[in-house]
Amino acid sequence: MLVKIVTFFLIGIAILAMFGRLKFPGQKKILSAKCAKCGRYRLGRGPCACGHVRKDD
Ligand SMILES: [Zn+2]
Repeated sequence: MLVKIVTFFLIGIAILAMFGRLKFPGQKKILSAKCAKCGRYRLGRGPCACGHVRKDD
């Protein structure tokens, strides 16, 4: 019984850690990766497909 409780506790912590990792740095990255001109998501640090180059990079 105690082993089950410990296992569930560890699984819960692992899930919380995963959500924390996915939510906080992920959202910031996605928001900052949006092009200021066309609003599309950019991949990488290069200029957008529309030709807009970010100045705050
Ligand atoms: Zn663009």
